Amino acid sequence: MSTIFGQIVDGEIPARVVYEDETTFAFLDANPLAPGHTLVIPKDEYERLNDVPEDVAADLYATIHRVIPAVEEAVDADATTVAFNNGEAAGQEVPHVHCHVVPRFEGDGGGPIHAIAGETPDLDDDELDEIADEIADRT
Ligand code: AMP
Repeated sequence: MSTIFGQIVDGEIPARVVYEDETTFAFLDANPLAPGHTLVIPKDEYERLNDVPEDVAADLYATIHRVIPAVEEAVDADATTVAFNNGEAAGQEVPHVHCHVVPRFEGDGGGPIHAIAGETPDLDDDELDEIADEIADRT
């Protein structure tokens, strides 16, 4: 059973499609945070960013790169917040990778991406070094 986004790609559910190519697809969010709020997805279903194969990831970024200026110009935005909710704990509701392109306007009252955190951690230098090493060992 496809996710709702898979059904949109297949034309089973209507959407305001703004771009489509062989592997990627972009359409307006049904509950926009701002006029022009657009979602960019791979056509095939992958739940998380790291499930996306490298070639499709490159295509996805190319479409994001193409859609951002189109959205900004279309709604005369000053900027965009571009983000993925990557996993349920991060707020991902639809388990099909999607990039939110949210137009931003001077004085729109919204916050930066830093506003997503709940309580921020108080980490000393040793802890930061250890975390950096743990990440570096895996990249
Ligand atoms: P997320 O919380 O990152 O999974 O975001 C899912 C997004 O999909 C939300 O912003 C919804 O408004 C949007 N959405 C859900 N159903 C549809 C739909 N049928 N067409 C367009 N956008 C949708």
